Amino acid sequence: MIEASAKRPPLKVLVAAPRGFCAGVDRAIQIVEIAIERYGAPVYVRHEIVHNRTVVDSLKAKGAVFVDTLDQVPDGVPVVFSAHGVPKAVPAKAEARGLQYLDATCPLVSKVHRQAERQVDAGRHIVFIGHGGHPEVIGTMGQVSPGTMTLVETLDDVATLQPADPDALAFLTQTTLSVDDTAEIVSALRARFPAIVGPRGEDICYATSNRQAAVRAIASSCDAVLVIGAPNSSNSLRLVEVAQRDGAPAKLIEGPDCIDFEWLADVRTLGVTAGASAPEALVRAVIDRLAGHYDISEEQVETAQENMVFKLPRELTADAA
Ligand code: SF4
Repeated sequence: MIEASAKRPPLKVLVAAPRGFCAGVDRAIQIVEIAIERYGAPVYVRHEIVHNRTVVDSLKAKGAVFVDTLDQVPDGVPVVFSAHGVPKAVPAKAEARGLQYLDATCPLVSKVHRQAERQVDAGRHIVFIGHGGHPEVIGTMGQVSPGTMTLVETLDDVATLQPADPDALAFLTQTTLSVDDTAEIVSALRARFPAIVGPRGEDICYATSNRQAAVRAIASSCDAVLVIGAPNSSNSLRLVEVAQRDGAPAKLIEGPDCIDFEWLADVRTLGVTAGASAPEALVRAVIDRLAGHYDISEEQVETAQENMVFKLPRELTADAA
């Protein structure tokens, strides 16, 4: 008798590591969970705590209520700000209303916020490299007065910049950008404005650069790459671009139900990775679904180990005993 699995075509699956949750996402989810335990449901969350529907749905089931604006938060209930950070006006408004708020902004995003304040205090205009409309960009631009920061997204934007004082410029970056694209934009800025100052590297976080290096390590050995992540997740979209740049057709999928088996028809070696807001359970679910169609052999390809853990806000750890 021929087993059903023997009829399945073979598929080698190279799973990139590191992948999935970063320390900032882990912390943000814990903040919401502990807040619900401590204060009871509902706990309001301004914006998606992280860009992942599975995470958001599981927190909703525990008692989190997601809203777009503070105006939707009733008086007397705690509110959590998302990992992407918020403009200064948001906590100010919460304070004015007497709302108790917990800030789940990733400490690496907060670090960029403080840099922005320091540069403006030093009299410099900031050129911020990022993607317009992303919540992190809105949050960072909202740390300083209007007119003190200009967003650039492309090399063309750099070419057309007309700063009032080219000798008093600083640059900062969004944390989840493509390492390669950002390096190009930074060199173009330095070439046009030699006096510009900036962080020693850039502000792209460890998790973003590690995940990009990990997908790059597998992409050239793969016939295709699946990146698990949400369509509005910046770091996940960058992983797709990095794989494509290394010659592997790559697709972003939200989970196992989105696998396009026709697209995989000629694939013998498939890469799998996940953006920083995608839980490992989704990676396993994708591999399990693949195993239903193929005779798979799975190999982890690890390019770095991550041990980063961020402290929780003091309000959640103080007098917990
Ligand atoms: S991707 Fe980077 S900046 Fe964003 S939450 Fe994770 S560690 Fe923080």
